[in-house]
Amino acid sequence: MADVVTPEKRSLMMAGIKGKNTRPEVAIRKELHKRGYRYKLHSKDLPGKPDLVFPKYKTVVFVHGCFWHRHHCHLFKIPSTRRDFWEEKINGNVLRDEIQKGQLLEKGWKIIVIWECAVKGKTRLTIPQVAMLTISALNDNTTSFIQITGQDTQCQNLHNILQE
Ligand SMILES: [Zn+2]
Repeated sequence: MADVVTPEKRSLMMAGIKGKNTRPEVAIRKELHKRGYRYKLHSKDLPGKPDLVFPKYKTVVFVHGCFWHRHHCHLFKIPSTRRDFWEEKINGNVLRDEIQKGQLLEKGWKIIVIWECAVKGKTRLTIPQVAMLTISALNDNTTSFIQITGQDTQCQNLHNILQE
């Protein structure tokens, strides 16, 4: 079947959604560093190669593209062409995410997922807000899996923390 998206456009999509060291990611890192939180980058020796690792908090952070990791938000939409290809690809990603999540939790790591919709598009938060949510997640010892999402999705609890 013909692919209607040109290779140039496809690579732009990939760069925009999947890239390491994207602008929001770097901005969040800087903000955390400024507030005294120290981390390692793209740790290859941990399942899923987390984007940030906070050894002191035994916490890993993933910055997930909503498309690639199937976040049920406004940024997720299966392309109308080559549907089966995309469904299979994304299902594979989601399955891998689940396995890696299980491995990390088993090893005693806490996991924070920052979804793309928290930093991009109509539901985005400010960088300091995302940094504050990340910090409150780092210091939250009651749960080992925390997601930070855009404004109109779940995660109201964390927003409430910000209001307090
Ligand atoms: Zn999302």
